[in-house]
Amino acid sequence: MQNSGRFRSFTSRDLDGLLQRRALSAEERLKLRAVAAVLPFRTNEYVVDELIDWSAVPDDPIFRLTFPQVGMLPESDVQEMADLLVDGAPAGRMQRAAHRIRMRLNPHPSGQLDANVPVHEGRRLEGLQHKYPETLLVFPRQGQTCHAYCTYCFRWPQFVGESELRIATDDMAATEGYLRAHPEITSVLITGGDPLVMSADVLRRYVEPLLRVESVRSVRIGTKSLAFWPYRFVSDRDADDLLRLFEEVVTAGKHLALMAHFTHPQELRTRAVLEAMRRVRDSGAVIRCQGPLVRGINDSAAVWAELWNETTRLGAIPYYQFVERDTGPQDYFGVPLARGYQIFRDAYAQVSGLARTVRGPVMSAMPGKVVVDGIAEVGGERVFVLHLIQARDPDLVNRPFFAVYDEGATWFTDLKPAFGGGEFLPGLPFP
Ligand SMILES: *Cc1c(COP(=O)(O)O)cnc(C)c1O
Ligand code: SF4
Repeated sequence: MQNSGRFRSFTSRDLDGLLQRRALSAEERLKLRAVAAVLPFRTNEYVVDELIDWSAVPDDPIFRLTFPQVGMLPESDVQEMADLLVDGAPAGRMQRAAHRIRMRLNPHPSGQLDANVPVHEGRRLEGLQHKYPETLLVFPRQGQTCHAYCTYCFRWPQFVGESELRIATDDMAATEGYLRAHPEITSVLITGGDPLVMSADVLRRYVEPLLRVESVRSVRIGTKSLAFWPYRFVSDRDADDLLRLFEEVVTAGKHLALMAHFTHPQELRTRAVLEAMRRVRDSGAVIRCQGPLVRGINDSAAVWAELWNETTRLGAIPYYQFVERDTGPQDYFGVPLARGYQIFRDAYAQVSGLARTVRGPVMSAMPGKVVVDGIAEVGGERVFVLHLIQARDPDLVNRPFFAVYDEGATWFTDLKPAFGGGEFLPGLPFP
């Protein structure tokens, strides 16, 4: 089906109606509504009409990517919310119950956002993050939502009003001042949410100041729009203005990278996404692809090999494969590091060198980006071999270290130094 190209989104109010496209029982629909009363739900006409294969629901990967799953919450929580829905409980009571359940889901893992807020002329610059010397993250105030929500999103608390969007900024004067004071920053990453929910005019207010700073060599935009709303680049009212802005970045002599979040090759098959990718590439921007490994959605080597082969065919560059973070429904979507590494390796072994630009599986953890390089046997001990691709402390970058092999470990904080050591590396203690 071809979409009209006009953006129309659906929220939890529309959920029951959408689910009727597939013969789910009233009981099943109620449980999914119960989950959506706790965790964010938003999708749109393109995802529903063009990406999801309804004949494959509930197993369809894109359905699982945007629609609630009953296993995302403990059974007793689902039952509690379902009972409230059946009783027609008042909104206040629903909210209190939902809040209590959310607080048990580790909504603010490792306090990373707070730890990396830069200080300039005595003032904390909320909405910026400066964790690695050469890269600054900017969270634009109007870009903190998405065209649809991923069920596995680690920023889920902000979409249900459980975090006071302190992490967003609209102060580009201060941002420009900070960049001028820190010429070691060569790359600025505009991220969200999805910055491309903003109009081209508003995005321009964030991008233009960056072009005036000589030391900034690359501008990156983190986005899921190619997957969730490719019409953003094709037929939205300001699609051409957006592409013109991309061209201006390139003309200003900067590298412009669209850091495109793709989860499954099914997101790369519509006419709209092919057209959108062609138009973005014609602007001179480079598309780099990243996404997490998620149980029940893309946890197979065949799926990843296809994703990397297909992005490469379309002229995009595979970048990172992420490990699911320790928040929200991670118990449901998480893949143990050992299994994740196997999937990564088996997929990597199947693709041409052009697609072996991808790094993974990567954990964006407190000390930095940790990659699982392999599982090895050293002196009779089974170990994970790891290294940091990015670290707060540049001295730690690209040095191999070892952790005790643990089949069930799902995150960096589950790991312990191998060989009876007290730290992974000098200066890298275990959490
Ligand atoms: C991933 C990441 C970056 C970018 O790192 P690159 O290796 O340059 O892609 C910057 N800041 C934070 C906090 C990140 O997680
Ligand atoms: S696009 Fe990114 S920020 Fe938005 S819901 Fe998905 S994972 Fe979260």
